[in-house]
Amino acid sequence: MKVLVINCGSSSLKYQLIDSESENVLAKGIVERIGMDGSILTHKPAGKDKVEIKTPMEDHNIAVKLVIDALVNKDHGVINDLSEIGAVGHRVVHGGEKFNKAVLITDEVKKDIEALSALAPLHNPANLIGINACEKNMPGVPQAAIFDTAFHQTMPAPAYMYGLPYEYYEKYKVRRYGFHGTSHDYVSARTAEILGKKREDLKIVVCHLGNGASISAVKNGKCVDTSMGLTPLEGLIMGTRSGDLDPAILSYIGEKENLSAAEVNNVLNKKSGVFGLSGGVSSDFRDLNAAANEGNDKARLALDTYYYRVAKYIAGYAVALQGIDVISFTAGVGENDFGVRENVCKLLAFMGVKIDDEKNKIRGEEITISTPDSAITVMVVPTNEELAIARQTIALL
Ligand code: ADP
Repeated sequence: MKVLVINCGSSSLKYQLIDSESENVLAKGIVERIGMDGSILTHKPAGKDKVEIKTPMEDHNIAVKLVIDALVNKDHGVINDLSEIGAVGHRVVHGGEKFNKAVLITDEVKKDIEALSALAPLHNPANLIGINACEKNMPGVPQAAIFDTAFHQTMPAPAYMYGLPYEYYEKYKVRRYGFHGTSHDYVSARTAEILGKKREDLKIVVCHLGNGASISAVKNGKCVDTSMGLTPLEGLIMGTRSGDLDPAILSYIGEKENLSAAEVNNVLNKKSGVFGLSGGVSSDFRDLNAAANEGNDKARLALDTYYYRVAKYIAGYAVALQGIDVISFTAGVGENDFGVRENVCKLLAFMGVKIDDEKNKIRGEEITISTPDSAITVMVVPTNEELAIARQTIALL
C-alpha cells in the first residue's frame, strides 16, 4: 500500500508518498506560500529531477489538489491513479492528554483536535486544515492523526507537573506535554534495534537537535521525561528559541523594552536561542561554527552555552532513568554537527562517556561513536518522522 504523509503548516504543506512494503519514498515535496503571492509547489519524484510548479494557491484545498496532480502526472508522477493511495497519515502537533497514541480520524477526533488548538494555536488549526483538504480531495481514503505529544503521555506526574497553583492544571491543563514524540519514539526504538536489544531493557536518552530541539528520557520503552513543556519553547537553547529561563525575565524585559506579553513571547520564540545569543550571527550551526572559527566571540559563546545546556539535561536524565545505557543524537544538528556531539560528550566525561574522534566525524549515518570502554554507549541515529508516521498509519488499518 502507498501512504501519503502530510505535515501541514499555516502556509505550507510538506508531503511524502511512501510505499509501505518497501518503505521507499516514492516522491516528496513541499508547497509554500499557500494563500499568499508567489505560491510554489516543489515536487521531487524518486530518481528524477525536482519540478517547481508556480501557480496561485488560494487555500490548502488547492494545494492538496496540486500535490495529487503532481503524484499522478504522466511525466513527473509516481502513481497511475489516485486510488493507489491507501491511506493518509497526518502529523498533528498537540494531542493534549486526550491522545496517547495515533488514531484514525473521525468527526469526533477532528473536534478534539480543534478543542486542543488553545494549547497549540499556530499548529493544530493548520493541521486540521490539511486533514479537511485531504478528506475533500480523497474521499473515502482512511486518514490517521499522529500526535507529536502522544509518546510523552507516559511521563509520571512529577515529570510533567509545574510548581504552579494546582488549579491551573485543572482549569487550563497547564502541564508538560513534550513534542517531537514521533522522533523520540522512532529513534529510541531504532537505537535498541541497532544494538540488538529490546527497548524494554534499556535506559535511553534521545537528543533530537534540529532547529527546534528536545531531549527525552526513555526507560523500558516508555518516555519518563522530556525537555519541551506546555509549548515547544521550554528546555534546550534552540535555533531561535530561548529554552529554559527565569520566568521573571518576561515581565522584566517587557517593562524595560516596553513590550507586550505577546511581543516578549515573540522575542523568546523567534529572536533568541543561538541566533539571539550570537548577536544575530545565525540560527544555523554551519554558520555559527564558521563564525566561531573565525574568532567571533559571541558565536563561540552561543555554541558553548548550547553544549552546556544539552549536557546538563542529559546528566539530569540520569535521575529520570536511574542511570543511562545509551545516548542517541538525531535531527539536523545531532546527525551532522560532530562538534556538538564532541563537546557535549566532553562535558559528560565525568560519567565515563568516551567517544572515538574518528567515528564521530561521520555525518548522517547510523553509527556508534563511543569507545568500547565508554560507560555509556553514544550513537548517531538519523530520525525519520515520515516513515514513523507511515508505519503508524498502516498499523491503525
Ligand atoms: P527542523 O527542526 O526544521 O526539522 P532539522 O532537524 O532539519 O530542523 O535541522 C536543521 C538544522 O540542522 C540547521 O538549522 C542547521 O543548524 C543544522 N545542520 C544541518 N546540516 C548541518 C551540518 N552539515 N553541520 C552542522 N549543522 C547542520
